[in-house]
Amino acid sequence: MRRECLDNNGGGGGGGGGRHPERRQGNKDRGSAVRQFDKTRLDSLDSGRTVRHSSCRSRTYGMLQENSNGEAHHSNSNQFFHPNICHVCKSRIQDSLRPCNWCHMISYCCEEHKWQHRPHHIEICTIITDFINDDPQWYDRCYLYDDWVKLQASLIRIIQVILKRQLEPYEMQMFMFTKACFICHQRHTSYTCEYCLSVSYCSDHVHHIYKHYGSMCYQMSLCLNLDVRFSEDSVWESLRIKNIFPDVKRPFTNMESFCNQYCHIRENLDYWSFSDYHITDYISDPLTLYNGMQSAHLFHPEAITNTFVIHIIAANNVDRRNFLAWELLLHLLNRITKLIIVLIGPELEPEYNEHQTCFYCKEDNKRLILEASSVLYHDYVFHINYRRPNVIVGFQAELHRPLPALNPDSWSESIKTMQSQKCPVLLTATLSCKADYDITMIQQVLGPSVKPILSTFNDFRTFRPYRDFEAGYVSFRNIYLTVYDNLNV
Ligand SMILES: [Zn+2]
Ligand SMILES: [Zn+2]
Ligand SMILES: [Zn+2]
Ligand SMILES: [Zn+2]
Ligand SMILES: [Zn+2]
Repeated sequence: MRRECLDNNGGGGGGGGGRHPERRQGNKDRGSAVRQFDKTRLDSLDSGRTVRHSSCRSRTYGMLQENSNGEAHHSNSNQFFHPNICHVCKSRIQDSLRPCNWCHMISYCCEEHKWQHRPHHIEICTIITDFINDDPQWYDRCYLYDDWVKLQASLIRIIQVILKRQLEPYEMQMFMFTKACFICHQRHTSYTCEYCLSVSYCSDHVHHIYKHYGSMCYQMSLCLNLDVRFSEDSVWESLRIKNIFPDVKRPFTNMESFCNQYCHIRENLDYWSFSDYHITDYISDPLTLYNGMQSAHLFHPEAITNTFVIHIIAANNVDRRNFLAWELLLHLLNRITKLIIVLIGPELEPEYNEHQTCFYCKEDNKRLILEASSVLYHDYVFHINYRRPNVIVGFQAELHRPLPALNPDSWSESIKTMQSQKCPVLLTATLSCKADYDITMIQQVLGPSVKPILSTFNDFRTFRPYRDFEAGYVSFRNIYLTVYDNLNV
């Protein structure tokens, strides 16, 4: 079961670090046709196995256990927030769902689960309750979309200042995905879509529900199912790509052909399981880097060194969670013996770990190392653990837009630092306009002559939707790819 390695040539240069928390959510699926609303399909989503999709398939990995009431058992309920399910057990049964007595922004299926979560929630709940008491129109004020987004961002910022800490991702989601009318954003709602549970309307706008049915409802339902099923750490551990050894006899040109060649299990090509969607999200980052470097002809012989260092800027918990998938690069590029993934972003816990590779990697003395630095990129280069990178990557880094908690100029410093590393830079985005904004931002900081050598739709984007109201309703990671050979003129 040996493999012929796909190494072409070597890899990049440079060195430097970065910071910036990152937003990780996909973009509107422009490539796929709008699907007709199909209640049968939604029912199959709710009951939880296979879903009709295009022609990719993949192995079925572990799934969460559900009891007869459709409740999933969660050991880590803070992995994600959804306004219309029990935060603790992720039950979707609406009849028993009750919002928090004080802030009304998070819901539970029973008193027991409410009090179980209370120690985690009480700090932020107290602050939100103060906001509500100070604002008589908290529930019924309407907002234009942009103003609503700004309000949520400013609430996050103020609460972080009061608490003197970064909000956890699920706490930020309490604001990003607050229950509010999808049209006018007032918090008084009278109807929530019973299929996806993810879109609500006020009494004035409830007739808009008919525009929601179809692709939007389908994708949001899929999104909730995937959030529930894959929020357990143990599920991610089981996704190790131990047996994926790409070889020249089974070529692949995009995510679908890769999955067909290497992740196949299902016989019916028209049906994707939740795991199929999930695996595309898991392996998208290393495949995007591999394919991006290949397409831009950056894997020349001297560029791939025995020790290969990748800086992931604006890294967040998704990068940390997906880290083990980088072993795929050791399988794709035989010349690399020591792959060091450096995650850089203030959301992260500092960490250094050497991870167990598969049997074949061990046989070849191949090593996979994780370093995480909880700083911004321009601070990382002065860090004691700094290593010069072969390539810098930003997955949905959104260089044009700092997170609310950060200084608006912080990206300028980091972009200059990225330039000083003199190595290839790959950026992905969830929307083509965001990819363009990143290119413009780099030109504003470094000059108009700094241009990418590749800016294109990414064939190795994920098929797993994430809630993203900015993109309309959901988005997909790594839709667009921009590649610079380096950021110098
Ligand atoms: Zn519950
Ligand atoms: Zn509360
Ligand atoms: Zn409304
Ligand atoms: Zn719906
Ligand atoms: Zn391996």
